[in-house]
This record gives sequence, structure tokens and C-alpha cells, in this order.
Amino acid sequence: MRLVNVKIPTLDPEQSYDVTIQSGKFVAIDRHDENVHTDRPFLYDLSDYSEETDVTWDGEGRILLPRMVDAHMHLDKSHSLLVAKNKSGTLLEAIQSYTQASETFTDENVIGRMRKTALSALAHGTKTIRTHIDFNTRVKEETTFRGVRMALQLKEELAPYMDIQVYPMLPYYPYEDSDRKKIEKMLALGVDGIGGAPHISDMPYECVDEIFNYAKTYQLPIDLHTDESDDPTVDTVLYIAEKTMEYGFEGKVVVDHLCSLAAMDHDKAEAVIKKMKEAKLGAITLPAANLYLQGRDDRGVVRRGITRVRELLEAGVPIATASDNVCDPFHPFGRGDLLQIAQLTGYTAHMGGKSDLYTLLHMITDVPAKLVGLEPNTLSVGSEAEFVLIDATTIEELFAELPQTRAVYKAGEWLSMTNVTNQLRPLQKGKANLIQ
Ligand SMILES: [Zn+2]
Repeated sequence: MRLVNVKIPTLDPEQSYDVTIQSGKFVAIDRHDENVHTDRPFLYDLSDYSEETDVTWDGEGRILLPRMVDAHMHLDKSHSLLVAKNKSGTLLEAIQSYTQASETFTDENVIGRMRKTALSALAHGTKTIRTHIDFNTRVKEETTFRGVRMALQLKEELAPYMDIQVYPMLPYYPYEDSDRKKIEKMLALGVDGIGGAPHISDMPYECVDEIFNYAKTYQLPIDLHTDESDDPTVDTVLYIAEKTMEYGFEGKVVVDHLCSLAAMDHDKAEAVIKKMKEAKLGAITLPAANLYLQGRDDRGVVRRGITRVRELLEAGVPIATASDNVCDPFHPFGRGDLLQIAQLTGYTAHMGGKSDLYTLLHMITDVPAKLVGLEPNTLSVGSEAEFVLIDATTIEELFAELPQTRAVYKAGEWLSMTNVTNQLRPLQKGKANLIQ
């Protein structure tokens, strides 16, 4: 298959490209100045695409991006908002409400909600999801294991379409023997890494110690909710950095949220960022959930809860942006669309210039790929042809309109097409204009 006249802003924003794909791989990616002529425009209509492989489609200048990587979601919680309310809108009530509601869930309910969110992410262009999964050892045993079991089942079911990494969140309370037995049983199920939220523990350092010990024993990478607080004195990230270096885990630890980093004074924040860099920590900002959850006690000028994205970028700390929660008590909106999250990151981190927009694209493609342990999908000759073709012809249009019309390609096939068109009734001569 050939796809001519496309733009690939992650390669070179100014050029047009023709790509040729054989047996699911790129065999040619040619740049050119003048558009090539062909009679078959790309229509975003699955019924128009047969098995024929010797076909040339005209992308008509549209944008082709590598399939995206959502490095931080909570598939198990998604779409639980109707049964897990959050009147105060705080993180605390969200945790309590979800824990209570989780006792009423069934396998079908949990995997159904997870599948809905994963497929929505897929249709928006996501290739890989790292999902954090609740693992609460002090609820009914079937509830304790349900999320992890269903996530592993969904990972297998959707493997032909997308990758799902399962990161159970280890509990933040001090462990008793009964907790340890359950944790060890769960870690033997074949999960991809260890998650947690030590900053909400009464004993955060001990909680971090437990996580590192389990990660070492089971040889798993670590991805932690870190300092999701407006309190500038919350700085468990410093201890996480120390432990990372002590355990030789450099490059295997990702810290997410880092809201208190924004609240700290500049000198302290600089010291924290320097330490993060030294320990080779990866960072993920989650603007949607934090805009919603943080600053709840502020009056007047309300803090946004977003970490220091620009400073982290300038210091060379790899930072991605990701979805976090979708339609649950932690965050009541969302659709698993990383482009929408990149736009929100643009708002919250004041990144709207042309070069900022390219940086934002990297924050949802190759940067998170590296953070979740994948080879970056750089769209090169010889690599797997995995991409999303979006109905926008400039990067400005891409970010302004977040077009829903997208087509997702993998392994020699179009996996998904969404086509949203607007039908505007033309004004008729002699009739009154509707707009008076
Ligand atoms: Zn999260």
C-alpha cells in the first residue's frame, strides 16, 4: 500500500511524505516538495478498503502520527462515575467512594468498562496503555484480585490491536502478613510492573521501601503516583530518587503527577528536579485529573495543580503527558484521547507556540514510549507501520480542532476508522437568512 501526500510532523514539520508499506512494514518513506497526483483520495470509510495491497491513497496533506502511548490510565475505574460519586470533588472522597463501590462490581462490569475505555483510546490513535489497577487487600478477596485479573484478561484479548501494561498499585498502609500473602500471590500473576501512591501513606518512606523491595524481588519496573498534593512540604520524590540510585533502578522508575513540585519555592523545586535528573527518573503530568482535583482548598486565585512541565523539559527530564482517569470519581470527563490531553497540557503549561506544539506531540508519542520501556515508534524504513492518519493538514488545525476523523493502521491493516462530517444546509436563494 502507498499513502502519498501526508505530513509527518514528528519527522519534519515542513515536508510532505509518501509512505510505502509491504507486509506491515515501511519499505519507503520519501519526502518531496510537490504533491504527487493520484485519483483515490483517502475517505475514512472502512467499507472502501478491501484486502487489495497494491493501492495508492492520496492523504491530501493530512497529518500522520505514530500511534500514541498513554503512559498512565486507570482502566478499572473508568466509567464508574454513576456508582461512585464524589460530592466534594477531592482525592480523598474519590478514593473512599471508589473503594466502597468496588465491592459491588462483577467481572463482567469491570472488564466491560475497561474494554470501552481501551477501545475508545484505540480509535483515537493509542497503541499502548499503561494502566494502574487498584489492589486493596482489605476488601473482600474477590474484590482485591478482580481488577488485576480482568486487566490481564483484557490485555490478552486486545493483544492483536494494542498493548496493555498492567501496574497494580500496592497498598499504602503498613503491611501485615495477610496483606503480604495477597501481594505476593498477585505479583506472581504476570503483571508488568509495580505501582502505588506512597505520598498518601502515613508512613511514606516505609511504603517506598516496600515497593522497591518487591520490585527487586520480582524484577519489575516501578511507576508511582508521586506527591499529588498542593502541599509544598510533600517531597517523597526525593526519597524515591535516593532509593532508585541505591537499588540501581535508574531508568526503571517513573514518577507521576508531581503537583507539590509546582507549589514549592523555586530553589527547592530546582533541587528536586536536579535530583530527579541524577536518578534518571521519568515524569508524567496528568493535567485533566489534576486540574479537577487540586486547588480545592484555594479561594480567589486557585492553583492548577500542574507540575513544572517547562522546567522539567528544560532540565532534560523526560516528561510525558497522559490521560489518568476517565469518567470516574477522580475525574468526571475524558474519552481516552491523547491529543485532547496534549491540548490541555498546552493550556496548563502555557505551551501554544509552534515549537511547543511539536514538543507536545513528542510528549504523547516517543517520550512515553521510552518511559514505558518500548522502542520509540519513529516511523522509519524497516519498522512496523503503526500510525494514525488524522483529518488535519496543519499542526495548528490539529491542536485547535482535535479532529475526531482518524484512521488507525497496524500490521498491514486499517484497525479502526472514525469519520465525523458536518452537513451544513446551504442557504437558499430567496429565503430569509437564518442568522438575523
Ligand atoms: Zn493515576
